[in-house]
Amino acid sequence: TKLRVGLLFGGRSGEHEVSISSARAIAKALMAGQNQEKYTVLPIYIQKDGIWQGVTVAQQVLESGTPLISDGSGNLWQFPPDVTDVDVWFPILHGPNGEDGTIQGLLKLIQVPAVGSGVLGSAIGMDKIAMKMAFAQAGLPQVKYMAVNRAQVWSNPCVFPKLVDEIEANLGYPCFVKPANLGSSVGIAKVRSRSQLEAALDNAASYDRRIIVEAGVVAREVECAVLGNDNPKASVVGEITFKSDFYDYETKYTAGLADLIIPAAIPDSVTSQIQDMALAAFTAVDGAGLGRVDFFYVEATGEVLINEINTLPGFTATSMYPQLWAATGVPFPDLVNQLIELALERDNG
Ligand code: ADP
Ligand code: MG
Ligand code: MG
Repeated sequence: TKLRVGLLFGGRSGEHEVSISSARAIAKALMAGQNQEKYTVLPIYIQKDGIWQGVTVAQQVLESGTPLISDGSGNLWQFPPDVTDVDVWFPILHGPNGEDGTIQGLLKLIQVPAVGSGVLGSAIGMDKIAMKMAFAQAGLPQVKYMAVNRAQVWSNPCVFPKLVDEIEANLGYPCFVKPANLGSSVGIAKVRSRSQLEAALDNAASYDRRIIVEAGVVAREVECAVLGNDNPKASVVGEITFKSDFYDYETKYTAGLADLIIPAAIPDSVTSQIQDMALAAFTAVDGAGLGRVDFFYVEATGEVLINEINTLPGFTATSMYPQLWAATGVPFPDLVNQLIELALERDNG
C-alpha cells in the first residue's frame, strides 16, 4: 500500500507564493517515476488568511501556481474532510506561521511524523536573535549584533535617542536592521545614517516585537545544504551573486537578478570549513531533516561568518537547496524521498 503524504503549503506569511512553487515541485516529484508507486499525495492549501482548504482546492492551486484569495469561509487549522489517514506530513511553508514551530507543534500534537525540524529547531531557526545566541554558544563566528525590542523603539522620546546612540557606537554604518522573525529579506534595511537607522527601526518594529541590528559586512554570500537527523550530511557549497546593494526581496524573486553558482569558486579549505560550520549550526538549533545554512565569506581576510539557518528553505525546481543536493549527487525526486524517510525514522527513533 502507498504511503499517504500530507503536503501542507501556502500559509499566512509573506512567502506564500514561494511556498506554492515549492509545493508544486515537491508534488510533481512525489507523483513521478518510482515515487509514484510509493506515495499518494494529499495536499492542503493554507490561504493567506489562515483558512485551510482540502484536496480539491489545493489541487487547483498547485495546477495554476497562483494563490486563491479567501472569501473568509472555511476553518483555521482544521484538517479538511478529504484529507484522511495521513502517514507523514510534508509541511513546505516558508516564514512565520509555518517555518517557526507553530505548524510543527500542531503536527506533533496529532502524533503523525512530519518532514523537517520540530518545534524547538523551527522556532530557534526563525528568530534571528535566538538563532544567533545558539550559534554563539556553539562557537560559530558571526557579525556583531544588538537585540532590540519594539518597546525600546516606540518608547518615550528620551529613551529612543540613547538606543540609537548605542547602536551607532557598537555597530557603526552601514548596519542592517531586521525584524527578528521574518524571511525573504522582508522588512530588512541597510542603513548608512542616523535618520535612516531611526526610520528602519520604526519600520522593523511594525513587523515584529523583536528586532536585530547587525554590523554590515562586505562579503560573498555562500550557502550549504544540510540533510539528515542525528548524523546530518553537508552538500557542496553554492554562491549567490547579484548586482543590487544587498540580497533583498526583489533580487530574490525577480528572475534574472541573481545567479546561483554551484559549486562556488572558493578554495577547498574554505568549502570544508563551511560544511563543518553548517553541520554545527544545524545541531546548535536542533535541526532535523533539512536546513540551508547561509554564510558570509570575506574573501579579503579568508574569514567565514555564519549568517543564518533556514529550516524550510525555498524548494522550487530552481531553488538553492535542491540544486545543491543535485550537484552533490542527490537528484530532486530522491531528495524528497529521503526527507520522508528521515521524518519516519525520527519519529520511530
Ligand atoms: P532573511 O532571513 O530574510 O534572508 P538575512 O539575514 O539572510 O534575512 O538577510 C538578507 C540579506 O541581507 C542577506 O542575504 C545579505 O544580502 C544582506 N545582509 C543581511 N545581514 C547582513 C550583514 N550583517 N552584512 C551584510 N549583508 C547583510
Ligand atoms: Mg532567512
Ligand atoms: Mg537569508
